[in-house]
Amino acid sequence: MKCPKCDRTLESVVINHNKVDRCSLCGGIWFDKDELKNVKDERDHNLSWLDFDLWSDESRLKPSGTFIDCPRDGKSLFKIKYGPSDVMVDICLDCHGVWLDRDELDKILKELREKINKETLPEYLKDLGEEIKDLIFEPGNSKEELRNIAIIMKLIEYRLAAQHPKISEITSALPD
Ligand SMILES: [Zn+2]
Ligand SMILES: [Zn+2]
Repeated sequence: MKCPKCDRTLESVVINHNKVDRCSLCGGIWFDKDELKNVKDERDHNLSWLDFDLWSDESRLKPSGTFIDCPRDGKSLFKIKYGPSDVMVDICLDCHGVWLDRDELDKILKELREKINKETLPEYLKDLGEEIKDLIFEPGNSKEELRNIAIIMKLIEYRLAAQHPKISEITSALPD
């Protein structure tokens, strides 16, 4: 495979037990389907419950530019924000691969971690209140809003478990 940015042949490298393809010239990395999720989960198990479907909402996509094509199948890549981070990643709609420029992987992981650690439970509850208000009073709520609620619910769950380890002890002892 060739680098979508500088056309150099990508080299196979191992990141957190996952074999990915990296460009030695620009430092960009190509992740085939599910490889980015696997690397994220392997790097920080606290992030493994945060899962983002980058492909389900095409209205959030932006064109990546003429010169960036999928190294796997040559299709045009699209830009999209990775979950709640501010990092724009390039994705292929055909093979579900993801292209990250140099340092974008570390940026994504750092921002996700900050998101979890910095915000407090009352803030999540406040957000949740707003979301629920929108859902009740706005007709035609979007899939995006429903997904945000799902993410916030997961964050609450996580913070409760982190702040009150006893709760997770109790709930993990319950039968499913
Ligand atoms: Zn390159
Ligand atoms: Zn592709």
